[in-house]
Amino acid sequence: MTSTTLFRDLDYAPGSVGDIFRLIRAGEATSRSALARLSGLAPSTVSLRVDALVRLGLVSEGGDEQSRGGRRARSLEIGASSGYVGAMDVGANHVQVALADLAGNLIVVEDLPVAIDEGPDAAVETLWQGLTSLIERNDLDADLLLGVAIGLPAPIEYPSGRVILPSFMPSWHNADLPTLFAAHTDIPVLVENDANLIALAERSEDHPELDQLLAIKLGTRIGCGIVSAGRLHRGVGGAAGEISHTAVIGESTIPCVCGTANCLESVASGGAIVARLRLLGYDVRTASEVVELGRNGDARVLDILRSAGTSIGGVLSSIVNFFNPRDVVLGGAMSASAPLVAAIRAELFQRCLPLVANDLEVRAARRPGDAGVRGASQLILEEVLAPARIERRARDLDDATTRQSA
Ligand SMILES: [Zn+2]
Repeated sequence: MTSTTLFRDLDYAPGSVGDIFRLIRAGEATSRSALARLSGLAPSTVSLRVDALVRLGLVSEGGDEQSRGGRRARSLEIGASSGYVGAMDVGANHVQVALADLAGNLIVVEDLPVAIDEGPDAAVETLWQGLTSLIERNDLDADLLLGVAIGLPAPIEYPSGRVILPSFMPSWHNADLPTLFAAHTDIPVLVENDANLIALAERSEDHPELDQLLAIKLGTRIGCGIVSAGRLHRGVGGAAGEISHTAVIGESTIPCVCGTANCLESVASGGAIVARLRLLGYDVRTASEVVELGRNGDARVLDILRSAGTSIGGVLSSIVNFFNPRDVVLGGAMSASAPLVAAIRAELFQRCLPLVANDLEVRAARRPGDAGVRGASQLILEEVLAPARIERRARDLDDATTRQSA
């Protein structure tokens, strides 16, 4: 049992230390005077709050900007060096591990050999070792690791983080990674669906509140993450976006746990395409190898890729008409296949309502290579920098100071 309390989606008290930190972090106010204007607090109260944040190392002040007319406001920013977080993106054939500072900048990204078919217990051991080794090799203080988020290509129950009926890794059903990680650490550990993490990474930096986007992960399996008005939409239990088991026309080549005879994932996912090509005698194992075969122009491979794209585009057109997003972002290894993406686009635009198609942009993820770990670092930063958690750290610091002076 972990002793960590999670603050996901918890509210903050207006004008509290946590609230002031939230305003600085969102870039809404970056000087003491701007904070006073925005919060309505007295300048002296704002200064007390900011001083507490500076003592905690969470906020740093830029140098004095002197001008002839008097001292100009010093700019406040997130103290990026007072801690960092871990981010992991676990796929069927690859694992990426990264560290990010408190401003969300990736410090280092590394690929790890992890065999997910060995099951969750062995995988957690390897992931934790990989993370601690990365911390050591980058000369970082292990005590400043504030939290970890892990993306998995599976439905993830919210808020528990349990893996529920993953389609291609049966031994992971009900896996409780936060509890397994608690044997190593008492920092918060969050587990999230991989497509949800791409959706988080693709939010716009300037005005995330305007984002209406769908992130489609085209890897060994197919996933979909939803951002509405800048926030991840998980549904009641975390299953929102599970489009992969929609029935489609086509023949399945891999068994699926969902019970639908020809679901999108068993017909058109990277795993399904690999299986179909292997039946035809091709020596191919991963989604990336399929993309490479497509690049070589093999007619049979192109045919299979186009047909998969048509199936995916057909399912997407229904949800795009329903949700009316601005962006449909394609990520994952299979999104590098031009013929697959062209077929998805063609089918999608052909079936979309004009009112939906007008504003619709179908595009590649901005940095597909590390979108998963970027999304994971954003997720865990929202947790470890949640106003309620900052509030508690400020109180603990106050208590410690009082005890020392007593
Ligand atoms: Zn299925």
